[in-house]
Amino acid sequence: MGKDKLSIDKLDSENLSIENLDLTVDEIIDESADWEPLGPTPMPDMTSLRDWDRKLMKRYRPQYYPTCEQCCFCGFGVCDLSDGKEGACGLRLHDQVARKNFMRATWGVSAHTAHARDVVDEAIEKFGSDVPLDMGDHVTVEAPNIRLVCGTKPETLADLKDVLDYLEKEIVQEVDALHTGQEGDNIDFESKALNAGMLDHVGMEVADLAQIAAYDMPKGDPEAPLVDTGMGSVDREKPNILVYGHNIVGAEDIMRYAEENELWDEIEISGLCCTVLDMTRVDQHPKIVGSLASALKFIRSGVADVIVTDEQCVRADTFREANEVGSKVIATTSKICFGLPDRSDDSAAEIVDDMINNGQEGVLITDLEKVGEVAVKVAQKISDDRKEAKTSPSKEDLEENLDNCVLCGFCERSCPNDLPISEAMKEAKNGNLEKSADLYMNHCIGCGRCDESCPNGVEIMKVMEKAAEKEIKEEKYRVRVGRGPIRDTEIRDVGSPIVMGEIPGVVGLVGCSNYPDADEGFREPIYRLARELAERNYIIALTGCHAMDIAYFENEDGETLYEEFPGSFEAGGVVNCGSCVSNSHITGAAIKIANIFARMGLRGNYKEIADY
Ligand code: SF4
Ligand code: SF4
Repeated sequence: MGKDKLSIDKLDSENLSIENLDLTVDEIIDESADWEPLGPTPMPDMTSLRDWDRKLMKRYRPQYYPTCEQCCFCGFGVCDLSDGKEGACGLRLHDQVARKNFMRATWGVSAHTAHARDVVDEAIEKFGSDVPLDMGDHVTVEAPNIRLVCGTKPETLADLKDVLDYLEKEIVQEVDALHTGQEGDNIDFESKALNAGMLDHVGMEVADLAQIAAYDMPKGDPEAPLVDTGMGSVDREKPNILVYGHNIVGAEDIMRYAEENELWDEIEISGLCCTVLDMTRVDQHPKIVGSLASALKFIRSGVADVIVTDEQCVRADTFREANEVGSKVIATTSKICFGLPDRSDDSAAEIVDDMINNGQEGVLITDLEKVGEVAVKVAQKISDDRKEAKTSPSKEDLEENLDNCVLCGFCERSCPNDLPISEAMKEAKNGNLEKSADLYMNHCIGCGRCDESCPNGVEIMKVMEKAAEKEIKEEKYRVRVGRGPIRDTEIRDVGSPIVMGEIPGVVGLVGCSNYPDADEGFREPIYRLARELAERNYIIALTGCHAMDIAYFENEDGETLYEEFPGSFEAGGVVNCGSCVSNSHITGAAIKIANIFARMGLRGNYKEIADY
């Protein structure tokens, strides 16, 4: 594949006469490749599947419940779209809502595709372009999304670059379609959003295949190891490096540095969100602090000596919050720079010296080869001096904050989950910290809005943290490491039971952890749903925050769902595929059921498989 150009100034033959012909061939897909006949829509553009989308949405009409009835996207200023009014460009409210859906879908596909580009480029630089995309003996359909959408069969890291070229070209067209004065029909916006979602799974698949192949992550192993998760799993005595985000490439350098210098007994690498989930797929030393809901809580705890950020789901105030507790910050991607000086061209020794001795609180280092050395050396040097910052808030802190609370209830009204904060504060003022501790551990999703809203500057999260001092230390559970793809053999085994109804279906539990609250805690409904469905023989496939959060509950034998139910893709299986980019294995499994079990053609055959 690749771009080919042909120019002919003049050609005269018996049957053909050509003048001034310029021909550019964008992608060449070898239709004769013998692995499978080519279907009708390889590498679709934004309208290739439009007729199918429109049929689908005629049957399942989109319903809109707008949270905002204005548009402020263009130079006309703010347009009121309520009560059937049109904006200055002619756009109606339902068009605008659909446009925003599409916009969010483009964020998703661009985030995962950019992530994939980073992983592929870094892996090729480190290991070479001919690393095979070997997913193990049990996986022969190793890239179902890519085969289905692109019609190609990548075999090495280099082959993934062609897929990324296609995705990047399509994403530019999609972002353009969001511009004012472009699309004006809500169903067409929705069709474009579906297209972006389809491409998103291709981008995620590229990222996960590349990292599985390059970093030797589990290849569909249903018995992938169990690792610790929870704030209590972190050893607070050791120098601590907290990795934070979704992209393993920088964090992998820290692990490599620790391994090469035999430092695992001396330092603690902990992490938030998908970066650490992916690290545990490579090495089981790092500790999973938790999902997005644990981010602000753990950063404010001050336990991290150095925070290393990459991309996606990283709080915008990370550097400011880190400064408050004396943690140093290393940003490692061009996507999140926090206004920090770019030290990528300086030596590791110079950067370490400036961070320790010259008041450099944070740096941007995009040369990932230096990240491991800088992060580890800085953490080792400053850890002893930060002992006090790592302890939980003092009794005096608690009392001062409680004294300042006038029980006005502003905090409660700003809490997205409507938590009874003032009731907890009232009880705490009377010496009972139980309610505050319960809110912190089981109900608070760590957004920080309450602190922002308090007119008296009460540090509510600090009060709750102090109240939950003991529970934080005890928060320790076990999660199964992400196993990656579903094996072809598993697909063969479940095909018939799914068709016959013995397995009622495959349920994907995926997404971020800002769930609504419930009586038994914000994570509990996800856990209960997973348990209930597993008991009813569904196959439960999880990734990201959901994969971490179901681990917070144990049965009467002290087992988490990962210990109680099998990790294989079978009836009642609780399957952790991995990080967010491993979502592609869930759609991949559905695609493989159609391909392997129902024997439907895969290659460039999106409509038929999607219909199935
Ligand atoms: S907003 Fe502040 S003063 Fe008011 S109840 Fe909440 S913590 Fe107390
Ligand atoms: S930090 Fe917790 S308690 Fe405070 S507003 Fe957010 S969810 Fe509510």
